[in-house]
Amino acid sequence: MLTAFIPIMRFTQINTMHCETCQKPIELCVCAEIRPQDTRLHVLILQHPQEPDHEIGSARLAHLALPNSTLKIGLSWRNLAAALGQKEADPSHWAVLYLGSGIKSEGARPQPLQFVSQKGAPIATPEHLEGIVLLDGTWSQAKSLWWRNAWLLKLRRAILTPQRKSLYKELRKEPRRECLSTIESTSETLDLLGEKPEVGEHLRTLFSQLLDQRRRSKKSS
Ligand SMILES: [Zn+2]
Repeated sequence: MLTAFIPIMRFTQINTMHCETCQKPIELCVCAEIRPQDTRLHVLILQHPQEPDHEIGSARLAHLALPNSTLKIGLSWRNLAAALGQKEADPSHWAVLYLGSGIKSEGARPQPLQFVSQKGAPIATPEHLEGIVLLDGTWSQAKSLWWRNAWLLKLRRAILTPQRKSLYKELRKEPRRECLSTIESTSETLDLLGEKPEVGEHLRTLFSQLLDQRRRSKKSS
């Protein structure tokens, strides 16, 4: 599918025009560059309602580029099916990208995307995965999403050790060097779970275009 989004604009505050599609200030809109990418896996992004970054936050951009994705903003959902807006969903066929680096491996080097048991021991990548869940927000917001949604414990857990540095560079001071934006984590995770390389590539390109616009608009202001 190769359709581009045509940004619809509206004034939200005096002198600030926002794109209705990506909800970003119009000078940061990259909607015209979006080429929706088909994926086998569904991507469910749960965004904390106070995720503060309306400028370079990337969850909505990832969602717009992935037709097989769901973006939910909130604090808690009854179960996986409710978060997906579906009648049923089998949590054992879903994985959540786990917070923290807690891989308790003795000896063997963990994989870039390592599935772990509830105790943190490395296990093989499960077969028949249907989708992945990502938590979008600051570390403490993501943590609070984790604790408010007990059903996440029923999902498989995967820990991503990023293989690329975040493109954020000077634009965001993350508390940990390996912190990636949500769109970058999505991109790496989909790559490592065997989606077509162009999917991840497109997500990274969009994010890099967004950051370029941000750098330009900072310079001119
Ligand atoms: Zn836009």
